[in-house]
Amino acid sequence: MEELKNPFLFWSVLIIANLLMYVVNMVISFWWSQTKHLKSLKVTGLDVKTSVITLVINIIIAIPGYYLFSINKIMFTNHYFVRDLLLLIIAFDFAMYGLHYLSHIMWPLNIIHKNHHAHKYFNEFSLYVMHPMEAVFFGTLLTLFTYLFFFNMYSFLVFIFFNYLYGVIAHLNIRSPKQPMVFGNSTFHAEHHEKSNCNYGFYTVIWDKLFKTNS
Ligand SMILES: [Zn+2]
Ligand SMILES: [Zn+2]
Repeated sequence: MEELKNPFLFWSVLIIANLLMYVVNMVISFWWSQTKHLKSLKVTGLDVKTSVITLVINIIIAIPGYYLFSINKIMFTNHYFVRDLLLLIIAFDFAMYGLHYLSHIMWPLNIIHKNHHAHKYFNEFSLYVMHPMEAVFFGTLLTLFTYLFFFNMYSFLVFIFFNYLYGVIAHLNIRSPKQPMVFGNSTFHAEHHEKSNCNYGFYTVIWDKLFKTNS
């Protein structure tokens, strides 16, 4: 993975991956609503503008991470793939649950997080509709984790993809009475957008069940 220190390669891969994720999310979300004959939230010019800003921030926020990676302050290993992947998922799940909960009760986080809740129901842009600072927080948290712990490179890449996939799934238009057992689903996150006072978890429902904040 040393070749990724080449700035041309690193930034090309990062920009292409981000653009692809942005487009693929829209396609999946649109296809889902179409095949399920679901009415989605009307797309506004503000949705498009906000989502493009989030996309740009998701790219720019990698600058400090790339710098630390290039001077070997952020390093990756090539062992313990499964352990590191599980560690990333569990640690991030907990950190995001805590941050998300605080984002509903603590100033100024609640002001920032309000932007994401502008969508009570979903459209193709909902995943990317957020305050710019929220995108900055997530990118910084990711950089901080890789700075503090040396993860397996493949665990980290799979985790990034897993996080994206969960974001896409969580913001699909769906209404189902089924409650998830361990892993969150679209219904779980849709209820969070609707009610705003429950289901703060993202990948799993464990923390919500433990702290009795589930719906
Ligand atoms: Zn929220
Ligand atoms: Zn959401």
